[in-house]
Amino acid sequence: MKPTSARAARRLANKAAKAGPVTIADLISRVERAHMKGVSASFESRTKRILLSYLQTAFAHGLPPKDVIGEMANGQAAWRLGMAVRDELLKAPPDAVRNAACQKGCAFCCILTGGEGGLITEVEAERLHAALAPLQGQPDGREWHENACPALDPATRTCRAYDARPMICRSFLSTDASACEQNAAGEEAAGAGLLASHLDYLGVQALSRQVLKGTAQVATYSLARTAGSAVEGKDLAQSLSTARHAPSSLDRACRDGVQAAGM
Ligand code: SF4
Ligand code: SF4
Repeated sequence: MKPTSARAARRLANKAAKAGPVTIADLISRVERAHMKGVSASFESRTKRILLSYLQTAFAHGLPPKDVIGEMANGQAAWRLGMAVRDELLKAPPDAVRNAACQKGCAFCCILTGGEGGLITEVEAERLHAALAPLQGQPDGREWHENACPALDPATRTCRAYDARPMICRSFLSTDASACEQNAAGEEAAGAGLLASHLDYLGVQALSRQVLKGTAQVATYSLARTAGSAVEGKDLAQSLSTARHAPSSLDRACRDGVQAAGM
């Protein structure tokens, strides 16, 4: 991820120049020493295991540290690792998946009232922007519901960026569509939630940010604002700037997810 200002870029470059190049062995050591605030010891240990397996594989294959740092910073590492856990989970689907009420055109989960517009990483924001930019000016989800995701087609209530939809959209499911409707209206109904693999994705991204402190910036973005900016014709840089979350959002999403899952 690119620093957001020339000053931030200079600061990071100066620091990196003084410290010398960061190696994958350095990153492994930083992961081993890291402490994740606000989550259980078992979640921290699981997240460390997942990120260490990625770093050890990168080391074994001789990947350049610069590329590895880039993937950790922009969320590609969290994406790959989260998807790998998700694929494994779906080989023996839990009850929540087997009994899911989800179907095409059911879109209460695309009404983004909580979670600061839905948290996504930089690589996900870039993919979403690329998928939606050509749809500038077309009717969007907000014509169906004021808080709906702009990527939604208001007529069919299907996603217009299906292949580029971020992890949060691939992780959310429910055994009861009426619970989703109530939650979208601000009530608290049981039945809807996120696949466990989503927590691994969030955990890896939060841990990556901690490990890359002083080396690279790691930002997260609002799904709703990224999609809105894209369909309103803003370019990628403007969209990222509009949609950028405060640094606390990622830790909060991670901590709340772990608590909700009772991990
Ligand atoms: S999560 Fe809820 S709103 Fe979304 S498709 Fe499934 S049942 Fe419908
Ligand atoms: S990106 Fe697609 S699936 Fe995700 S919230 Fe928006 S419309 Fe729904």
